[in-house]
Amino acid sequence: MDDALTEETAELLQQLIRNRCVNDGDVASGQEVRNADVLAGVLEGTGLDLQTYEPEPGRTSLLTTIEGTDPTAPTLLLMGHTDVVPVSEDEWQRDPFGAERVDGEIWGRGAIDMLNLTSSMAIAMRELARSGRRRRGTVKYLAVADEEASGTHGAQWLTEHRWEDVEADYVLTEFGGVPADLPAGRRLVIATSEKGLAWRRLVVRGTPGHGSMPWGADNAVLTAAEIVRRLQTAGLGARITDAWRAFVDAMGLPEELDEVVLDPGRVREVFELLDPPTARYCHAATHTTFSPNVLRGGTKTNVIPDRVELDVDVRTLPGVTDAEVDALLADLLDDLGDRVEVTAPFAGREATESPTDTPLWSSLRRRLEAAHPDAEVAPWMNVGATDAAFFRQRGVVAYGAGLFSPATSLQEFSSRFHGHDERIDVASLGLSTRLWLDVVEDLLD
Ligand SMILES: [Zn+2]
Repeated sequence: MDDALTEETAELLQQLIRNRCVNDGDVASGQEVRNADVLAGVLEGTGLDLQTYEPEPGRTSLLTTIEGTDPTAPTLLLMGHTDVVPVSEDEWQRDPFGAERVDGEIWGRGAIDMLNLTSSMAIAMRELARSGRRRRGTVKYLAVADEEASGTHGAQWLTEHRWEDVEADYVLTEFGGVPADLPAGRRLVIATSEKGLAWRRLVVRGTPGHGSMPWGADNAVLTAAEIVRRLQTAGLGARITDAWRAFVDAMGLPEELDEVVLDPGRVREVFELLDPPTARYCHAATHTTFSPNVLRGGTKTNVIPDRVELDVDVRTLPGVTDAEVDALLADLLDDLGDRVEVTAPFAGREATESPTDTPLWSSLRRRLEAAHPDAEVAPWMNVGATDAAFFRQRGVVAYGAGLFSPATSLQEFSSRFHGHDERIDVASLGLSTRLWLDVVEDLLD
């Protein structure tokens, strides 16, 4: 173990947590400039050129590059986001922004999503710069703002407006590498694909009236309630994608179950046999999901509402288009047609996938399996959304990876993602820092 690198990564993580760059989706939130400044402080003095971008005040992203000697050699981008999601402070056992170190763990919002990796990448980059060694390939580090609100002022903006700066052949970012105990044994899952986003806002109309006489009223809340009910049971049905096949392969279920999980008509039968977190994942990995998550409507207790807004989080499987989502909603709302208007609050994105027959995959596999002799690397579809999508859309091979200690488990990590009592063991911080250095050696020398 590189104790010095581990300690440096731990201290940097603590600083990033304490800066509380909480992104609540408002353009004025986040203020990632504070974390960008800390990271600039870490990288300064190593001779690296630092470039910052600020598409909105305070929404700063930071880029630095170590140029290779051979223009035909690959470019690897290490990308970590610097923002975190809000907390329910009262539910935490410790100060979510205190970054306390207790029993070998650092507590705080962002400890696993993903300030741990953002800090380990920065320390690895500083180490590479300090060594002064020129490699054939180029390595870049991007500390990016606004991942938690879909990258609008971060990775999306950079890939659309500063592509020549952030362009790469390979990208490493969150989320993967955590040991998952599956029926076939221990697997280190690396995200090779992720679902698409097709969020919809449904504006439901009604006729206003006095709340004292509700009989027969055209109440927008009641219409919205009916839509919510339909969304719960509707859907596009299960689809068996290549990503699911690969994951099923890695799971190593008994043969009779294998048949069931690969049959779109029967896959749901298995969900009842699984523990709830695994079942939730398996459902999301085989379905385009519709989750009605925000309802805004009504003005006063004695007024029948004439307008309700319903925000639906729609996540699409690979191959599912925006048009299919709209067709399903049109079908679902058929008889309510003129009372509901469907809009997309922002341009969505389709699901993205990267192949595994790449030198980067081979390197990750070798390094991860060396650190976990009892485990095998396996591809995995992230059912959430990360900044990797903006790069995969442009043909870049992007994986979600990291290296964690054997004491960690994917099931436990998943519950801490955006959850209470988020924390990371310090040993895992050093392992991830080491991983980036090893991958640079494999890929770029
Ligand atoms: Zn994240």
